[in-house]
Amino acid sequence: MLNYMTIRSFSGTHDWHPSVLNDTDAHEAGTANNIIWNIEHGFCPRCERPLPKPPEYPAGSRITRCRSIPICGDCGSDEAHQAMEGSDYSSAGSWPLPVEEIEERDTRFRRSRRPGKLTMVDGQLTLIMDDGTTIPVDSPDTGGWAQYGTSEE
Ligand SMILES: [Zn+2]
Repeated sequence: MLNYMTIRSFSGTHDWHPSVLNDTDAHEAGTANNIIWNIEHGFCPRCERPLPKPPEYPAGSRITRCRSIPICGDCGSDEAHQAMEGSDYSSAGSWPLPVEEIEERDTRFRRSRRPGKLTMVDGQLTLIMDDGTTIPVDSPDTGGWAQYGTSEE
């Protein structure tokens, strides 16, 4: 009887088990064995770079609902980028992805972000974008319930 290592991803609803690949196109595409081998030897099945080691948790790939396929942090961010771009997640049948593809997407994503700076302007917490626009930010509520309405009856 095979005893699979207990590997739990950060967002997974249960431990990693190879049977979860039945919910992907990995068997059809012939990548399943390689994915299993990588995971059980401590490599990210999506990019073949090392998976984080305990106490750090790997990310859980979004390609399955249970998110129990462990992937490295960079691939976790990459899937988040794909989600934000509105593109499909790279399926398990296309794993491993070229690292260059992941890094390209990362660079593109960083460029498209508008960096801003939080600062106080006239006592108001304000986000100053790099193009000069300013966005007032609500300060955290510090008053609690001290402010009492003066409803007259
Ligand atoms: Zn990875």
